[in-house]
Amino acid sequence: MIKVIGLILLTLLFNLSFQVNTSIAATTERIKGTDRYKTAVEISKKGWNTAETVILAKGTDFPDALAGGPLAYSKNAPILLTNDKVLTDVTRQEVLRLKASKAILLGSEGAISIDVENSLRSLGLEMERIGGQHRFETAANIAKKLSSNKAFITNGRNFPDALAIAPYAARNEIPILLTEKETLPEATYEIVKTKTQTFIIGKEGVIDKNVEQHLVNPTRYGGKDRYHTNQIISGKFAMDSGKAFVATGEDFADALSGSVLAAKSNSTILLVQKSKLPATIQTIQKNYKHFSIYGGFGAVSNEVQTSLAGIQTIQTPLPLKNSKVRDKPITHIVTHFMSNAASKPEDPYNIKDLQQIFLDYNVSAHYLIGRNGEMHQLVPENRAAFHAGKGTLINLPYYKDQLNSYSIGIEMMAIGTKEEMKSMMSSTQYNKIHRSHIGYTEAQYKSLKLLVDDIVARNPFITRDRKHIIGHDEYSPERKSDPGSLFNWAKIGL
Ligand SMILES: [Zn+2]
Repeated sequence: MIKVIGLILLTLLFNLSFQVNTSIAATTERIKGTDRYKTAVEISKKGWNTAETVILAKGTDFPDALAGGPLAYSKNAPILLTNDKVLTDVTRQEVLRLKASKAILLGSEGAISIDVENSLRSLGLEMERIGGQHRFETAANIAKKLSSNKAFITNGRNFPDALAIAPYAARNEIPILLTEKETLPEATYEIVKTKTQTFIIGKEGVIDKNVEQHLVNPTRYGGKDRYHTNQIISGKFAMDSGKAFVATGEDFADALSGSVLAAKSNSTILLVQKSKLPATIQTIQKNYKHFSIYGGFGAVSNEVQTSLAGIQTIQTPLPLKNSKVRDKPITHIVTHFMSNAASKPEDPYNIKDLQQIFLDYNVSAHYLIGRNGEMHQLVPENRAAFHAGKGTLINLPYYKDQLNSYSIGIEMMAIGTKEEMKSMMSSTQYNKIHRSHIGYTEAQYKSLKLLVDDIVARNPFITRDRKHIIGHDEYSPERKSDPGSLFNWAKIGL
């Protein structure tokens, strides 16, 4: 009997934890500019109103900047990027906004030219340059400015491991030293021998045993690839804000500028592929309630953002006859509601029933957003869906009855007010609908906002305003009442 109860309890517990895992809900935001220099400026704006010191690194290559995070944190300085020949204009403006009085350049004159230095000097800044003959010496020289008796050792020929450990290293003012895969450079050894404890980041394929032999009291943390190593680091060297910063693992710039802001807010950095959340990162995403993503859609895709937000995209395709070839540019987004309340007021949102409605009436939409924010893709965007029907747009006469060709249609599983539903059902039927099924859910707004942001980012002719993103009831006011008065445009920032 006890065994049986134990089993039931276990099953209950399992189900409970399973439910918790599937209802992961995190908020996401982006910190982005139109290029790496502007993204670095946006990161700086997010973290600093003023800064006495700024750190400048070359924007096109990483060797000299890789170890810069801990130094920047110790000076409470943002890391800005510049063209190596001339001071980048947005960077100059940011230096002025911050009212900085000192700049530290990472790298020798070969990495960042004397012209950049002179430009900063002419703005009245005191200058310091930390460089070396090569990346290993630069990192060693940075390490001399940090007092910790520990050190991280990363492979100096690639950036991911150094940047993944940077927020923790920065927060604890532990230097990041660089090594070749097979030999420990002299400059690195000179610093390492003064430490009492070292941490190797990467498996033996990244830093081999020969290097390990020369290190003081080493411990190794490495995974099968950069993302796995990142996952291990985020566990072993945890930051406890419950928030994570997310950067592409395919380029260094955003993670470099972003490492200091992450350190400042006691948060880890997670590296992702451009269009995919690595499986190893998926296993730890539940540890975080908020993700700040560095860079635009070109750096980290919306797919990754929606996965981080815990939104599922489900492919639920409708047959080709429910849409047509698109022959016009996409200029509008039209929002709708739909349900099966007229036939089943007690169970209005069964996906099979909704699919049948599309088929029976030969209509369609590109997306259908469910009550928990799950996103069904029904029609690909390069085809025109049958969602808008007859109607007109003010000042755009050629759109009369043609909006399907110009728009993307988004249905939400929702039900309007009794008045709005009058043409579809009797008041007796309406009264059978559970009140939790009426109106829209927060999860739906969250998914819709991400979807709209994504569509706007991909479609240059859609402006993110209420002229281009409209309700069906605005196009066909005599015929249609959706999305109706219960839909709150402010929830998607409109
Ligand atoms: Zn509609």
